Amino acid sequence: MRVGGAAVEGRAPERRALLNATVFDSARGSLRPRCTLVIEGERIATVTDEPLQVDDAARIDVGGRVVLPGLIDAHVHVVAASHDLAALALEPASLVGAQSSRILREMLHRGFTTVRDAAGADAGLKEAVARGLYEGPRLFIAGRSISQTGGHADLRPRGVRGDGYFCACAGLGLAGVIADGVGEVRRAVREQVRQGADHIKVMAGGGISSPSDPIDGTQFSLEELHAAVEEAEAANLYVLAHAYSPRAVTRAVQAGVRSIEHGNLVDEATVRVMKSHGAFLVPTLATYAALAEEGSRLGWSPAMLDKLAVVRSRGLDALRLARAEGVPVVFGTDLLGHMHGRQNSEFSLRGEALPPLELLQGATVHAARLLRQEGRLGELVPGAWADLLVVDGDPTRGLSMLAEPATGIRLLMQGGRVVRSSLG
Ligand SMILES: [Zn+2]
Repeated sequence: MRVGGAAVEGRAPERRALLNATVFDSARGSLRPRCTLVIEGERIATVTDEPLQVDDAARIDVGGRVVLPGLIDAHVHVVAASHDLAALALEPASLVGAQSSRILREMLHRGFTTVRDAAGADAGLKEAVARGLYEGPRLFIAGRSISQTGGHADLRPRGVRGDGYFCACAGLGLAGVIADGVGEVRRAVREQVRQGADHIKVMAGGGISSPSDPIDGTQFSLEELHAAVEEAEAANLYVLAHAYSPRAVTRAVQAGVRSIEHGNLVDEATVRVMKSHGAFLVPTLATYAALAEEGSRLGWSPAMLDKLAVVRSRGLDALRLARAEGVPVVFGTDLLGHMHGRQNSEFSLRGEALPPLELLQGATVHAARLLRQEGRLGELVPGAWADLLVVDGDPTRGLSMLAEPATGIRLLMQGGRVVRSSLG
């Protein structure tokens, strides 16, 4: 199969049919009962509610259960084996890679057949998944994020001077490339492109985990943001920007950024600008909930926890504002270390602001559009990768089956391969 980029070796194509399936049409937002779904090799060949001869296929009767497209998490960090990003940056890359393989496998088993890595993962990890060396979601990567001096991905503690410490010699963690000025930004983007990035991540405002930046500040000059977008688009890529405040989000979107990450502090005027530019919002509520519970035990400073409290209190408001304006709200989580286990809590957290149907669209069809994978991911249509979940219950009414994926997901398929099944 192809997972993101390269062909997976050693998986013979075959013909399978899912019988008696209630297919979730993610584009229309409706259920189609009594369907047959035929898979040839790695792709979906047919979805129909007409009678169909499938004697030549390996048949799986799903008993009328709902079949969903494989889920997409559009904001993860698969290398974030630890919440301590400064320590992680100094680990040997091979060790970080080995730990990432476990994070990848667990994400897949939670139902995420594709993830967009919002910085950290490199082309080696993507290739390891594509070759089947690591079991994991299809991986779309940013390479290293790009940050100004003192920006959100500048992990140097205040006592460190000079830029040799984390910046030049970082392994496979979340330390960004430090770039100041248009020339350095262009070079940093080109370097990520050279190393196989699928999208470019810039830090356009303050962050919680970074020691020296205000959460409502802006980062990078407009010229620098424009340069990042121009270089990304030159390589047919797009830019996603970490940004919380109206000012930071507005500048990024006006510079051509396609996807706003987090965005908790947006107001009505800001979501209007996002809508008019066709931007996406990728909230990440799960990580704030996790850190609110665990942050002080994990040694986060009072200043970081103060920033956390501010953005957490506004997370659901941002979803409601974006929804009201018609800005697509895409599924993201942004979890670190052992907190990755909370990935599916994002469903119940968002459930306060979004109906289940729209939430599911954010994790399927809208996410696929953001990734520019329309028709290949996020929809159960002929030609798409055969990435799908068979679940118990009606996910258009409630998503409890995804909150407990080990039992709620009865069959998990990626690229036509049955990853696991409890259908009997
Ligand atoms: Zn992130």
